[in-house]
Amino acid sequence: MELAFEARMLIDGRLVEAQGARTYDNVNPATESVIGPVADASTADMERAVAAARRSFDETTWSTDRAFRKSCLQQLKDALDKHREELRPQIVAEVGTPIGLTFAIQQDTCIDDMQWDIDLIDGYNWEYELGNHEFFGLNSNRLVIREPIGVVGAITPWNFPFMLNLSKITPALASGCTVVLKPAPDTPYAATWIGRLVAEETDIPAGVFNVVTASDPAAVGDVLSGSPLVDMISFTGSTAVGKHISARAADTLKRVFLELGGKSANIVLDDANFAEVLPGSGMVCMHSGQGCAITTRLLLPRSRYDEGVEMVKAAFESFPYGDPTDYNNMAGPLINARQRERVLGLIEKGKEEGARCIVGGGAATQFDKGYYVQPTLFVDVDPDSTIAQQEVFGPVLAVIPYDDDDDAVRIANNSRYGLSGAVNGGSLERAVSVARRIRTGTIAVNGGQWFGPDSPFGGYKESGQGREHGVAGFEEYLETKTVGLPAT
Ligand code: NAD
Repeated sequence: MELAFEARMLIDGRLVEAQGARTYDNVNPATESVIGPVADASTADMERAVAAARRSFDETTWSTDRAFRKSCLQQLKDALDKHREELRPQIVAEVGTPIGLTFAIQQDTCIDDMQWDIDLIDGYNWEYELGNHEFFGLNSNRLVIREPIGVVGAITPWNFPFMLNLSKITPALASGCTVVLKPAPDTPYAATWIGRLVAEETDIPAGVFNVVTASDPAAVGDVLSGSPLVDMISFTGSTAVGKHISARAADTLKRVFLELGGKSANIVLDDANFAEVLPGSGMVCMHSGQGCAITTRLLLPRSRYDEGVEMVKAAFESFPYGDPTDYNNMAGPLINARQRERVLGLIEKGKEEGARCIVGGGAATQFDKGYYVQPTLFVDVDPDSTIAQQEVFGPVLAVIPYDDDDDAVRIANNSRYGLSGAVNGGSLERAVSVARRIRTGTIAVNGGQWFGPDSPFGGYKESGQGREHGVAGFEEYLETKTVGLPAT
């Protein structure tokens, strides 16, 4: 069956080619073959998109007409619902994600979760009175009004592209902002498909939502983060690019919301039921480890270290990976050749620095094509070494022994990141008390899942600024106006 996809961008309400009809190839990381062309935007294309988003914010009723916004977003959700089965193979082809994940977080869950933000348009407390207060001998009432911040530049990575696109555009549009979405060069169709549905199946006015694809993210991205017409950048990606964007955005003092990298720790306490907890530890290789919140450091108590390592080893040896279209596989390839080289380089660094590699440790050569890396397990890892400190973004786990709870907390917090983590123990109370001491934005205790449309998600330290999802996530896209009124 021919794969449906949209090669054009959406700018000012029209599906358009790039200036000069320039395109680049979208490559399937499992087969290394070209899926199709993509519009390759110039900086002038980005400037047109920004101008359209500015004009539609300033000159239409989008920012003020909540009932209209709600009906438009409902149309978009209905359209995505209707086209799920066309979108699914596109996501598998361009991301290399195992197809099973598209029935959850790579696709279906996030279409369903849109409803939460759509419903918040009616449920949110947009304005409230504070009552009377005396200041300079004058008694006044105060009205607090929450308003959309304006034009949002949304920049997303390739690992969960459709989910992260929706995680930004749904609250941004629901709050009344207008948006320019710039997806990662490797995963454009997860964004252009949304652009097509917006253009063809919704009443969203021209300019309110724009999609700009480009092979050179730095040039067009710098236009977005530097533009005085843009009020906010909502970015998910690496810490290095997040810092670059922050620096550029400082010149116009625009708001910057950042979801960045992670190096999360899973602490297994000495009273944990190892047989329940550790057989699932191969799941860090899910989607080839290309997840920011994956617990890529496993902390095992020295008193039960050998027993734990044996169980993790068995889990890694039997982890199912390969062709992402096969429902049995939990991981496909890495996104591109450059990323595979990066991951293989970090694996070599781990070996050089003295960690013991007991499973995998190289490219997966059993496949003729595709950017595959073997599930790789390092044990006896020094908590200060490169593979314990740097985000690998591949199917690699670092196992670190610890002495007691204080030592485990110290090692877990010994990171420039603070995105997520896990604690597993025999006593829920003890596990929660350890979790409270970990400096991260989310943490799973005894298998509890923190993810949900109403759960704030984000990082401490160099893992980010601000929160995505939930009321906190919605409010990232709002300004606050306080109006002084005569006393009541
Ligand atoms: P990246 O930082 O290289 O790219 C992210 C996005 O930024 C892409 O769209 C890219 O094209 C764009 N970009 C690159 N240079 C730019 C510039 N100068 N101006 C504007 N945009 C620019 O990240 P990646 O390699 O695509 O994704 C992997 C990273 O994303 C990992 O570090 C991972 O931890 C992180 N990530 C974080 C979260 C989270 O929610 N915290 C979620 C997923 C991924």
